[in-house]
Amino acid sequence: MTAALHDRVAQCLADADQRYTENRRLLVNAFLAKDRPMTVPELVAVIDGLPLSSAYRNLSVLQDAGVVTRIATSDDNGRYELTEGFSGHHHHHLVCEGCGIVVDIAASPTIERALRAAARRATQDHGFAITDHRIDLIGRCATCQR
Ligand SMILES: [Zn+2]
Ligand SMILES: [Zn+2]
Repeated sequence: MTAALHDRVAQCLADADQRYTENRRLLVNAFLAKDRPMTVPELVAVIDGLPLSSAYRNLSVLQDAGVVTRIATSDDNGRYELTEGFSGHHHHHLVCEGCGIVVDIAASPTIERALRAAARRATQDHGFAITDHRIDLIGRCATCQR
């Protein structure tokens, strides 16, 4: 299953005229090993010998190819994760405006149904066809509330 994912990443990069280099593979493996979006320094900390500058450059290539996505946070870092097409699970985010941490939260069928209905009502006058949504809930984590 992981091998199949790496094949899909390689194909996606090839479509963008990019190669699936060792460092890019290490970054994808780091995403697979974690259950929450990560900053570039956090990624570099778990990948032996990957310089920060190389991490930024390769993340930018992976982002342009649609393999990873960046979640904006109130700190300068931002957080990165695999796009849902590669992670395979649709979810929403809690984003702390105190410390910048981003936590994945499950999207329940009930919430998804309610969101789809609300989105249809909100967009029906615009002739807009909705294909997806991204929801980041902004607030303060338990630690930052103390
Ligand atoms: Zn916090
Ligand atoms: Zn959702």
